[in-house]
Parts: sequence; structure tokens; C-alpha cells
Amino acid sequence: MNKHSLNSTLSLTAIFLFALFFILPSSTAAQPPPAVMNAAETEQALKKLTVLGSALFVAAHPDDENTSMLAYLSGERLVRAAYLSVTRGDGGQNLIGTEQGALLGVVRTQELLAARRIDGAEQFFTRAIDFGFSKSPEEALRIWGHDAVLADVVWVVRRFRPDVIITRFPSTGEGGHGHHTASAILAAEAFAAAGDASRFPEQLKYVRPWQPKRLLWNSFFRRGAGGGGGGGDQPSTSGLLSVDLGAYNSLLGKSYTEIAANSRSMHKSQGFGSAERRGTAINPLQHLAGDATARDIFDGVDLSWRRVPGGEAVGTILGEAHRAYRPANPQATLPLLVRAHAAMVKLPADDPWVAGKRRELLEVIRACAGLWVEAVSTEATTTPGGEVRVTTTLVNRSDYPFRIESIMPPFGTSPQTVNADLKNNQPLSTPLTVRVPASAVVSQPYWLRSAPGKGTYAVTDQQLIGTPENAPDLQATINVLTPEGERLVFTAPVMYRWTDRVRGELYRPFTVISPIAVNLEEKTYVFPDRQPKQVRVVVRSNASDVAGTLRLRAPAGWRVSPESMPLALKSRDEEMSAAFTVTPPPDSSIGPLAIEFDNMNGGGVSGSPARGVMRIDYDHIPLQTLLPLAESKLLRLDLQKKGERIGYVMGPGDEIPDALRQVGYTVTLLSDQDLDNANLSAFDAIITGVRAYNTRARLRQQQTRLLDYVAAGGTLIVQYNTSDESLPGNLGPYPFRLSRDRVTVEEAPVTILTPDHPLLNTPNKITAADFDGWVQERGLYFPNGFDERYQTPLATNDPGEAPLRGGLLVARHGKGTYIYTGYAWFRQLPAGVSGAYRLFVNMISAGK
Ligand SMILES: [Zn+2]
Repeated sequence: MNKHSLNSTLSLTAIFLFALFFILPSSTAAQPPPAVMNAAETEQALKKLTVLGSALFVAAHPDDENTSMLAYLSGERLVRAAYLSVTRGDGGQNLIGTEQGALLGVVRTQELLAARRIDGAEQFFTRAIDFGFSKSPEEALRIWGHDAVLADVVWVVRRFRPDVIITRFPSTGEGGHGHHTASAILAAEAFAAAGDASRFPEQLKYVRPWQPKRLLWNSFFRRGAGGGGGGGDQPSTSGLLSVDLGAYNSLLGKSYTEIAANSRSMHKSQGFGSAERRGTAINPLQHLAGDATARDIFDGVDLSWRRVPGGEAVGTILGEAHRAYRPANPQATLPLLVRAHAAMVKLPADDPWVAGKRRELLEVIRACAGLWVEAVSTEATTTPGGEVRVTTTLVNRSDYPFRIESIMPPFGTSPQTVNADLKNNQPLSTPLTVRVPASAVVSQPYWLRSAPGKGTYAVTDQQLIGTPENAPDLQATINVLTPEGERLVFTAPVMYRWTDRVRGELYRPFTVISPIAVNLEEKTYVFPDRQPKQVRVVVRSNASDVAGTLRLRAPAGWRVSPESMPLALKSRDEEMSAAFTVTPPPDSSIGPLAIEFDNMNGGGVSGSPARGVMRIDYDHIPLQTLLPLAESKLLRLDLQKKGERIGYVMGPGDEIPDALRQVGYTVTLLSDQDLDNANLSAFDAIITGVRAYNTRARLRQQQTRLLDYVAAGGTLIVQYNTSDESLPGNLGPYPFRLSRDRVTVEEAPVTILTPDHPLLNTPNKITAADFDGWVQERGLYFPNGFDERYQTPLATNDPGEAPLRGGLLVARHGKGTYIYTGYAWFRQLPAGVSGAYRLFVNMISAGK
């Protein structure tokens, strides 16, 4: 959380502006295969089966969670541990790619799940959107909608039933970010409300009220005491409840702080690679509500099977199984485990404890039998109404005489009777053909299926709320019989498997996608004048024999020609492109551009919106397939420009070059070699991308060359960087100091300090109207101390704060112009904010 400012900025309106990239299936994303636990993990899991306890950790964002605490709770205390992140981190900045907004939320969701696979905890969310940095909890709760988000926290508490809730932040504001404080307020309110049947009674259709035993704050006493846990100076904890998160687990060969570092390093989009820490790490826990204790987190909680009515017998058998377990002969434990299963099945299945432990027990049975269970498809995708061939394969690596009874394919297809013995190490494969119903929902994260509200995602299905991700699109259920006549029901998500020549065997989730993928090349089409533009639509068939009509829907005043276009694609993966001519209205105008597709063969509704296909593909998370609506934005703006050629030094990724091409500039992305050797004087302006100096070491080396380019008459525009050792001492021609000053309210008034400054007049006359319609924020990391030779034509500030002039610094240097700017152009331009285009073009034109 101390580094959290990295994770704090997004545009509410930009959330749904998906980039409709056409990424073809060359994916290599890592999806965990259906692994079998090794002996140490199995022993750990056996021990855990005997413990019934749970703890819920609550904070605001991906990265806030104390991964040491989660690893300790799960691995040392052997309870169910979970992290409830109020948001999915949609508002942060992305250090590994171009995803922003909702797409970044998808990446961060998967990063949290990857972290949980390491620290052993579970993951939940609310519907709240991370709308960017917030200076107060009141603002956060107002934008989210207090009651809606509280309802979600209560829902997660009622469903997960934690004995203890632990907050990362205090409700008193020391957590800094308004979201942090709000998460603590919500946790306290949910602690009080979850057990009260009169609160959120609509939830009681699915869950019962639940009163946790106590609410604790995992307090921090010093800088750096966040995520990774202790080490270094130990705080005084006399009289306080405290835990040693540095404890060592000999089965796993790691301390919980070491596990935590591995887990935390999954937050790669935030650049949170973490060092492993060893040694005692005392963490204090302050009592906030419920039963007070100085003894133990779970003091007074029965952590045994006695807490489930009729469960004591199960606990006894599982305890025996744990004692009997021998790594060299795991299958000897199977008869006891099967007995435990039989005893568990008699307990009420709607008891969350029983349901959770049954899943755990099946995994332990699988481990003790070395039982491999998989369901693999011949294709990676299919479409609603399509067919897919799936092969389930089971391999029993024990002498225990399991028998496959039947396989239940998804979608209510009739069960396939197998009745075959699973002999030791003899794979048993069963091919199935599955027809996906025409009504099947296509693969799109459930919280992105409808347009979001301002502060929360629109999710109407109560049962989905809180869950981290979609259930698998396709799942096979396999009934396995034991010699005792016990039926074990294994489920396997259908996966597509392939072998990469370098990385070996890889898996990805099988997905149901729409019959055609329609992708537009731009998220905003910008018309700087009355000239028509070609809008090229690329259509790819995901099924055979797709035919219909494609139509562009533009706002009033815009003309599209032709009005519609017939479409016929014979085979799967066939691609065609269609060009429409779009003519803008004479005056400024902005509106949505949608695509409709009438599917003649698929029984689709006339005028139904078309979808694109996009994939998010990183090594540390499973491949994500999204099917966003094929839509874009049309912007006609009044824009004069000077200069033609721009050199752009890309940092970790932004979409400014594309935005500039849209208004007619020729943009060259400058490589490190170009920085060394290219003839810079060929460029009318050189622009550095957001955080370019933080990520491109060569920039620091060639800063003098860039300033010489300015002195010789060039224009250099430096967008925001964060203050660190990567910055050159001469970031500008005169000194200035970067700060963490930011203006988070996107409507915050901008004052024009020097109305006759050329930057505000040439070639576009800038007025107050040009600051209308901005998204997410005004800007960030403004310099707060600068040489007097810098001119500051603008000032802005958040409500109740002092005006900040550092968002735009301009200086003449030799014959040229140097500009440093922390205004959030990288959000405004892709979002189609016309005033931002006008001012940005003035900056480019400053030397002309
Ligand atoms: Zn945070």
C-alpha cells in the first residue's frame, strides 16, 4: 500500500472504450494444468481438512493485501483465508502493457488469482469500480454508491462466513487513498450488518445472516510495513494481539514471508516484484469490534468439525487419515479418505463448510491416488449452436480399484455411461461430442456484460456478485465409483492444450465466442476537418457459413456510405474487410459508432450489436478472451495544426501516437538506436510517452542530445514521469522538482493565468470550454518547484486545495521550446476529448 499511488488513476468514461485489437490465436498464456499435489502439499492439505476456521482480509485494491498474512492464515493456521478487494484495480497504471480501465481490471483480477494460487487464499470482489485516486472516503463511497457496495461486502461475509475480519487500513484516514479508508469503513459496517437479518434481507433467499467473532486491524507502525510483512525494526506490540508472519513451514520449505514475496510478485502490471524476506516478522492486530482478546486471532472459535452438526465423526476419520498418511505409500490412506467422504456426504450440502471441505477432500483423494483428471477439447473455441469434441482422460496411479461410472457432459447433454475400471497407470479416455446451445452466453467477464454505472459494474445476478471470475465456459463432470460403492464426483473445466516448441505443454480455457468477430481499428475516429474518412471494419468468421448484413450506426448529422454491406464467409477463420465512408457534420460533434450484424443463418435478432474478440495474453496469467461490443466513437472537432512529423519515445505504453495520427500527424516511434543516431532535426516535435524516462534507460543517456535538439529549434514535450533515480539531472533546460501533486477531480476548474500566451492561442484559441468533458483526472505528478524561467500558463486544483501551476511548464531554450506536462493527455486523447486535442496540438506547434 505504500507504493499504492501507482495504482490510482482511470477514467470513468474510458472504462468501456475497449481497444478492439485483432489478436490471432498465437497465444502462449500460462494456464495451470490440472496438477496433482505432491507429498508435502498433500500432507499439508490433509492437516487442513481437520481445521474449520476462516478469516477474511479486506482492503481496496489489488496489491493492498498483506500476502504474508494470507499465507500465514492459510498455511500455518490452516483456515480458509480470503482477500476481499473492494475494487479490481481498474484505475491504476499499467507497467506491462496498454490495457487501461476495465481491461486493466481484468488483468489485475487474474494477477490476484495467480497470487492466491501461491499463498493459498481465495479471492473476492465487490462491484465497485476503481475510478482513480480519491482524496476522501466520502467521495469514494458517494461515487460507488455506499449502499450498493456495503451490500456486496455483507454478501461476501454472509457467503464466506469468516470467523474473523481483518482490515488492512484504519477507518481514520492514515491509509491515505480515500478508497483505503472507505474499505475499512465498509468492513466495520458489514461486521455490524451481516448478522442482522433486517439488513439486506433480499440476500437471505440465498444465504443466512452471519456474525463474525471479531474485527481486527492489521495495523502498520512504520513506513514499509505493508504487503510483504515484517522484517527490519519490530514494532512494540506489548498488550496487543500479534502474529509472527515470518514463521517457517518445514513441509513447504518456506516461511510465510517467502511465500508472500512470490505471491506479491504476481502483481506484475504494477511492477511489484518483491524480495523474499526471512526471519521473524511480528504483525500487530488491533481490536476494532466483537470479542476482544490478546491471546489469539481465533480465540474462542471452535476450529474443529464439531462446529458442523453431525460433523464430529468426519473430523475423527480425517484426523486418523492425517496421522496414517505416509508419503511413500499415499494410497494406503485412500480407504480412510473414502470413509470420510461417505460421512461428509451425509451432512447438509448447503452448509458452506461441508461444500468447501468436500472440494478439498476430492483434491486430497486425487493426490493420494495420483489421479489425473482432464477434459481437453480439439478446438480452442466454438460458437453458440456449434459442436466441440472433448476427450476426458483419467489416469489412476495407484492400485486402488476406482471405476469410472459415467461422464456428464455440460449443457444437460445426456450422460455417457462408461463403467470401466481405472487400472494402475492405464489412461482411460472417453471422447464426447458436445453441442453448445444456441442460447449459450459468450465468453465475456460477467461484470463487463452490461454497460457499467459511474461507480459500480452492473451485475444483476446476485449469485455472481463477489465471485472473482466467470465459471468455465465448459465443464465435464465425471462420476467415479470406489469399491465401497461411494460415488466421487470430479469436475474438470474443458481446456485446450497445445505444445509450444520453446515453452512445452500449455493450456488455455476453452471459450464460447460469437459467430463473427467484428473489429474496428480505432477506439475513437477523430475528424479534424470536414473531410470524410474511411472506417475499415475487419470481420473474421468463428464458424462456417456465416452470412448476413453489416451496418454502421452513426450519430445524427453524420453520414455513412454505404448504409449496409452484405457479408458471406464460407469457412471458419475466413476474414474480410469492409470499408465505409464516414462524413462528419460541419460543426463539432461527438457520439458513438456502433456496428450491427443481422445473422441470416444464426437466427440472430435483426439489428443485434456485433462483438469483437480480444485476448489478453501474459505469461503470468491464463489467457483471457473478451468479446466486447464492436463500438467506437466519432469525434468532429475544430482543429488547426502546424508541423507534420513527430518523433515519439514510447514508455511502458500509451495511445497518444495513434491519437496524433488520427489528426494527420506522421508519428515515428523512436527506438534506442534512433535516440543515439537518428537525425532528430527532421522532427517538428519530439514527445516522450508517459513514464518514458522511468522505463527507457537510453533517454537518460541521450538527454543532452534531446536538449541540443531543442536549442537548435526543436520542440520537446515531456509527459509525466515519477520521481526516481532513472531521471536525468537535466530533465529540463532549467531545474524543476517532481512531486506527487495531483488533481483527481476531472471537472476541477482550470484557470488560464496568461490568456495571451502563444500556447493558448496558436494555432487554436484555448478557452474554458476546452477543459470540459475531461475524464478521470486533470493530471498527476505535477512539478511543485521550478525555475522562474518556466512559464506556467495554467493552474488547477482539487476542491479546497491550493492552485497548482506545475501541470504545464514551458520554456524557451535556444531557438526551441521545452514543455513538461503532467496533465493526463494519455487519458484524454484516446477518450476523444476535443479540448485536449486542441491544446496538445498547440504544444506540438509551439516552435512553429
Ligand atoms: Zn490500494
